[in-house]
Amino acid sequence: MSVVEAPPGQPSEGAGVARRSVIDIAEVSKTYRTGSLSVDALVDVSVTIGQGEFVAISGPSGSGKSTLMHIIGCLDTPTTGRYRLAGQDVGTMDEDQLAEVRNRRIGFVFQQFNLLASLSAWRNVELPLVYSGVDRAERRRRAHLALERVGLGDRADHRPGELSGGQQQRVAVARALVTEPNLILADEPTGNLDSTSTADVLGLFDELHASGRTIVLITHELDVAEAAGRIIRISDGRIDHGTPVAQGGRSVLQGTEPAPKGPRP
Ligand code: ADP
Ligand code: MG
Repeated sequence: MSVVEAPPGQPSEGAGVARRSVIDIAEVSKTYRTGSLSVDALVDVSVTIGQGEFVAISGPSGSGKSTLMHIIGCLDTPTTGRYRLAGQDVGTMDEDQLAEVRNRRIGFVFQQFNLLASLSAWRNVELPLVYSGVDRAERRRRAHLALERVGLGDRADHRPGELSGGQQQRVAVARALVTEPNLILADEPTGNLDSTSTADVLGLFDELHASGRTIVLITHELDVAEAAGRIIRISDGRIDHGTPVAQGGRSVLQGTEPAPKGPRP
């Protein structure tokens, strides 16, 4: 059973709201408890992200960005509040459904690339398909296609140590894409990259967005966040609902409403 919507460009079922939100987080809080210590990492967070949006979540170190990403990616659960993914309440999903969402419906990209050093690029890229039970020939075919997609078709047999940082991150993006997920979640994906590779990876996200995917880019760097169509700011675990500000000619809207594509009525 598919618990998240159909591939990009197709209408989703169950997301019974006008803008077809993929991510609908309502009054979510997250408290980490370690012994007698407790940290309120998220406080009363509400965020809506529409199908096909490219959104950045930005805030200083320790503001709760990764915690929010883990909740969005079904890697962790809120302490209180509700999260609907493509119209379905994640709180009601069982472990099998959550695993299906994580493995097949969401592509994850992390700061550290998380590639296996002993495997070639295409062997790294095929891994999510191994977990999904796709046969060997088909895995090889799709892994090579995904590498071509990120411009690394000629590096398929190279190991991570033989690639630049930017190329390694592109391999990681290919691995995130190989299952054809609708939603890409990237946590500080340019944090280890120089400015040329950063522009490269952001350009790739732009292309993926143009092809209909929903992209959530988490970053503490405002100039990276500006690659997105909308910036959601977070500080001390709370969403910043300040007044919209104009920056560099781009409208930066904060809070939960998707940015309007055209002029307001
Ligand atoms: P960011 O990604 O914006 O740097 P995080 O979401 O990683 O922020 O962390 C938010 C707050 O929660 C920080 O104060 C951090 O120390 C705390 N925190 C994060 N993960 C844990 C954890 N597993 N246990 C306890 N505290 C945590
Ligand atoms: Mg973080």
